[in-house]
Amino acid sequence: MRYNFSAGPSPLPAAVIQQIRADLPDWNGQGASIMEISHRSGAFAGVAQQAESDLRQLLDLSDRYRVLWLQGGASSQFSLIPLNFAHQQPGGYVLSGHWSVKAWETAMYHGQPLQLASSAPDYTRLPDRDLWQTPADLAYVHVTANETIHGVQYQQSPTEPPAPLIIDASSDFLSRPPVFQRYGMMYAGAQKNLGPAGITLVIIHEDLLARCPHQLAPMFNYRTQADKQSLYNTPPVFSWYVCGLVLRWLIDQGGLEAMARINAEKARRLYAELDRDDFYRNPVLPAHRSQMNIPFRIHDPTLEKVFLDETADAGFIGLKGHRSVGGLRASLYNAVSLEQTQALINFMQQFRTHYG
Ligand SMILES: *Cc1c(COP(=O)(O)O)cnc(C)c1O
Repeated sequence: MRYNFSAGPSPLPAAVIQQIRADLPDWNGQGASIMEISHRSGAFAGVAQQAESDLRQLLDLSDRYRVLWLQGGASSQFSLIPLNFAHQQPGGYVLSGHWSVKAWETAMYHGQPLQLASSAPDYTRLPDRDLWQTPADLAYVHVTANETIHGVQYQQSPTEPPAPLIIDASSDFLSRPPVFQRYGMMYAGAQKNLGPAGITLVIIHEDLLARCPHQLAPMFNYRTQADKQSLYNTPPVFSWYVCGLVLRWLIDQGGLEAMARINAEKARRLYAELDRDDFYRNPVLPAHRSQMNIPFRIHDPTLEKVFLDETADAGFIGLKGHRSVGGLRASLYNAVSLEQTQALINFMQQFRTHYG
């Protein structure tokens, strides 16, 4: 049994790791591994097509969205978004934690993005929708679905956004059916909840694609990438293939409704433990708490070091908080089972009994 609560790169389903093992070194009778054949071969085209159709099935995605598999991580999208869409009007940013601030700061290299709302400096809640500024001429509204470091997550779509939503869904993508409605674009670096690092999924509506400027260089242009089926240059074939295995695994689990039920229960149990008394503490407004990344503190910070040492000895990994906020964090992505989550909670209860 693995107990991996890492925030990213994060655990893959054990069945997927086994499948990768079985497929190496001779994938699908090709006489070579998936890493060693042409990305333009019929065999690889099959992988790409299956991954896309499985993704469309899981998300019940309309034909008006295109699916792109890109490189550069979510961080590259922080630049590509303003380059593709903010050439005439500015983008608007809702700042709810570390990653949305990063997206906004990066957009400043390319123009003058507007800050629509912010929950600085603590980021223990989402900015109130009623308090957003809503200028008339926005190109898009950028939101971060789930703040991986601060543990803040949208539980419903913001009402009547003043421009198409562009959503950084890196850390809760496929954890449940998307809560956002009629978004223009959703993107996710794979290494949190979809697959290995090195590939980034972009789901983009045709109406937004039509706005990508022709003079923008092809690698950075969403329209070229769509026209070329994400094969403008050599894609990260191995990461793409593993994402395909994860998508298949999700369908076998019963799809996103089934994942949503398990993920909600995992989070409910862990928050119940954190809220039991003052020993552990999560600072986020309960209605805005993340089901995926749960940061927490122990009332006496010196005990946090002890907690990390003792959990490491007990076989738990990835529980250290992000260096920018400190403390502890448990990430409960799809590949983390209810049993593994309960094992952590049991450990936490023993720890409290011993040191409380
Ligand atoms: C991890 C993360 C990023 C950065 O992803 P990279 O793929 O490393 O660029 C951006 N946004 C969110 C919400 C994240 O969790």
